[in-house]
Amino acid sequence: KMQVGGNGNEEKILVLVRLRPLSEKEIAQDEVVDWECINSTTILYRNSLQERSGLPTACSFDRVFRGDCSTREVYEEGAKDIALSVVGGINSTIFAYGQTSSGKTYTMNGITEYAVADIYDYIQRHEDRAFVLKFSAMEIYNEVVKDLLSSDSTPLRLLDDPERGIIIEKLTEETLRDWSHLKELLSICEAQRQIGETSLNETSSRSHQILRLTIDSSAREFLGKDNSATLSASVNFVDLAGSERASQSLSVGQRLKEGCHINRSLLTLGTVIRKLSKGRHGHVNFRDSKLTRILQPALGGNGRTTIICTLSPARCHVEQSRNTLLFASCAK
Ligand code: ADP
Ligand code: MG
Repeated sequence: KMQVGGNGNEEKILVLVRLRPLSEKEIAQDEVVDWECINSTTILYRNSLQERSGLPTACSFDRVFRGDCSTREVYEEGAKDIALSVVGGINSTIFAYGQTSSGKTYTMNGITEYAVADIYDYIQRHEDRAFVLKFSAMEIYNEVVKDLLSSDSTPLRLLDDPERGIIIEKLTEETLRDWSHLKELLSICEAQRQIGETSLNETSSRSHQILRLTIDSSAREFLGKDNSATLSASVNFVDLAGSERASQSLSVGQRLKEGCHINRSLLTLGTVIRKLSKGRHGHVNFRDSKLTRILQPALGGNGRTTIICTLSPARCHVEQSRNTLLFASCAK
């Protein structure tokens, strides 16, 4: 049964942790797995010999998913309600956070598809309302915003509009005809991202991708009569840059060598999420990065947020996995 809408008391940010299975290459290299999900909310680090300060051995989150859980399960339990709340006029954001190769894109691609299918399903069963779906897609690389639906790679400007809030100037917004139209647009995004990748060397680990679905709806009986009866909200699917870009553990020398070093948007997101999860009080620095400026309308106010933290189980990734769990703990 689908739950739609929200009653506004869902203040908390939902934090999920997803362990991926070892890859074939990791298995061939006899990689060891030190992590275990001991129940549906707790993940345990079993190698106590390597225990370091800063993180308890067992960490609890809203939900943890073992390596053999499907993306469908992750979606059903952690993202479905929040994605569907958009048809009831509530903004929502679903993030994938984790180091490169931990499964962010794998997870977000599946979740985006399931969510859109459910939204279409909902629309078909509610013929009393007229729905208009719009899709846009952007990439943030080095604090430069690009349109993933356009071959024009001119950076997009962010403008503050006193009435409409933040506006991404010239961003393409396609009105969706149907499901296959969306599939077409998603493959354009993927192609655009790959063009960037070959020219800029590993862009996807350094850039954030935001796919945005905006849904306007109004009761058919009021159509064309009463503007105030229109509900409008967006759901954002965000595939973040590799979290190693925000790592505090990089030595200074390494940072200097890195060319584009740490990722400002990722660091600011961490700060913003920490503040929001503590009850949305006080000043939140949305303006400190492009990512948080763009997502401010969805993250602030009554917007709902899920963060899926993806984790490699391999011992060779233990430092980054710990960093990811620290981020996840702070977001709780
Ligand atoms: P990221 O986007 O975080 O860099 P990817 O999503 O590209 O990582 O995942 C890296 C590799 O691991 C891909 O080949 C992907 O298919 C695989 N993978 C990731 N998560 C899972 C999973 N839960 N189950 C099976 N394979 C996975
Ligand atoms: Mg990826």
